[in-house]
Amino acid sequence: MIEPRDFIRTQVADDLASGKHKKVITRFPPEPNGYLHIGHAKSICLNFGVALEAGGECHLRFDDTNPEKESQEYIDAIQRDVEWLGFKWTGPVRYASDYFDALHDYAVQLIRMGRAYVDSQSAEEMRANRGTLSEPGKNSPYRDRSVEENLALFAQMRAGELDEGSCVLRAKIDMASGNINLRDPAIYRIRKIAHHQTGDKWCIYPMYDYTHPLSDALEHITHSLCTLEFEDHRPFYDWLLDTLATPAHPQQIEFARLNVNYTVTSKRKLKQLVDEKLVNGWDDPRMPTISGMRRRGYPAESLREFCKRIGITKSDGVVDVGMLEFCVREHLENTAPRAMAVLRPLKVVLTNYPAGQVEEIRAARHPNLPEMGERVIPFTRELFIDRADFEEVPPKGFKRLVPGGEVRLRNGYIIKCDEVLKNDAGEVIELRCSCDMATLGKNPEGRKVKGVIHWVSAEKGVVAEVRLYDRLFTDAAPDRGDVDFKTFINPHALDVVQAVIEPSLLEAAPEDRFQFEREGYFCADLADSQPGKPVFNRTVGLRDSWKPA
Ligand code: ATP
Ligand code: MG
Repeated sequence: MIEPRDFIRTQVADDLASGKHKKVITRFPPEPNGYLHIGHAKSICLNFGVALEAGGECHLRFDDTNPEKESQEYIDAIQRDVEWLGFKWTGPVRYASDYFDALHDYAVQLIRMGRAYVDSQSAEEMRANRGTLSEPGKNSPYRDRSVEENLALFAQMRAGELDEGSCVLRAKIDMASGNINLRDPAIYRIRKIAHHQTGDKWCIYPMYDYTHPLSDALEHITHSLCTLEFEDHRPFYDWLLDTLATPAHPQQIEFARLNVNYTVTSKRKLKQLVDEKLVNGWDDPRMPTISGMRRRGYPAESLREFCKRIGITKSDGVVDVGMLEFCVREHLENTAPRAMAVLRPLKVVLTNYPAGQVEEIRAARHPNLPEMGERVIPFTRELFIDRADFEEVPPKGFKRLVPGGEVRLRNGYIIKCDEVLKNDAGEVIELRCSCDMATLGKNPEGRKVKGVIHWVSAEKGVVAEVRLYDRLFTDAAPDRGDVDFKTFINPHALDVVQAVIEPSLLEAAPEDRFQFEREGYFCADLADSQPGKPVFNRTVGLRDSWKPA
């Protein structure tokens, strides 16, 4: 039974209980004109989730009525993303273009019923005669063409005998309607271009608002879930399905779209970033696309959890991106093995530790999950620690390494800094330290050492590229409209460092995720990482400490 945890699920549960529907069928209807983003994840989780919970079906249907903007690349990426998110559509991948013949026949029926006509006004005339929110539109001089004339003209449109833009087929409803969507909306236009699915078969293409309800009806969709901006389109959705004898009359239900701060969720804008090479493709880990978030290391479970937490409502709002990051952290905390990586290496030589000696320290892969087992961390005379863990002149409260001070090496010994070596420019280049050999896994006698820092053997550690990702925009509302959203691109959203990683990480396969202790969560890059030559992406920091740079 579907749990009525939002108004849509309540409606679906009621429709099943009342017997209005025996089986629920929903659909996810992307237009293949770009990659899916976090907003689509909400729609996917809703449509597939409702169907799954109600024991019904969910179709994947490409709304492919704009061939010039669509491509096979997008079709493939969208399928990959839906599956990666953990959902499987019922039956074959469907296309609105599968129904082009049926849609054409319905248009002919509308003409025969006197409910559609070919309008030969220019685009400007049509716009001028549409009216405004406060003024009614004006009837087209072609509105009263006879059925025969309309049939003949529509046949000519279809046959390619008329020029693009010379006319359109319009539904004949009411030019004075208070709802502009009912002022004789265009339903077919001439576009003399090939289509990725139907090739050269058509040179007229149906409009989205005409295609969508009919495709829903042909698939016997029970609940057609869409975002709030389609509320004003619902009267036309219902008009079409009431006017034509369709096999079903699905119910359109609108919900609030997802907006996330520090993010843009518009395919058109994301495409600009890709086209203008401001990011490295749609799956750049900085992108709020599903494939970008995947590459960044966001687990599919955390995206589903996020969509569950934000819920489904009727009122638009903006969700804090911190909530998404929280869901990512929460999942990784309990699933990602720990490892050590030094992102900004500073050399440490342990003067009292035998040269050439390699001690194999065993450490748990996860502090709370012993079933994950252990890894071996080599300990040697020469090590790297992070530059940020040493301060010559420490600020107040600094608990890490200082000249003359002691610190614990995580999983290792306590060391003391005896000497600081600098280059001619006065920069610290090496620390000479002594190692308290009695402190492996033990506290020292008679003194407390508070700080713990991570480290990697200089001799056995491995150099690896680490890509430090951060939020793509510095402003909470890059999309607000008064300023070009691209001016808010965060120049520090990607910082590449040559890190030194513990050798156990060499085994990482693409997409393996880790917590680099004290640094954050990292994921072996899907495209560029190879076993033996890993490249890691920072998925998210350990805590929510984000501030604009
Ligand atoms: P965009 O504005 O990014 O181009 P779109 O709505 O044009 O998005 P479609 O491919 O038509 O993209 O969307 C497929 C489905 O995803 C639609 O049902 C749409 O309502 C839904 N969807 C798109 N963006 C969001 C969002 N931000 N929140 C929730 N659902 C969304
Ligand atoms: Mg759309």
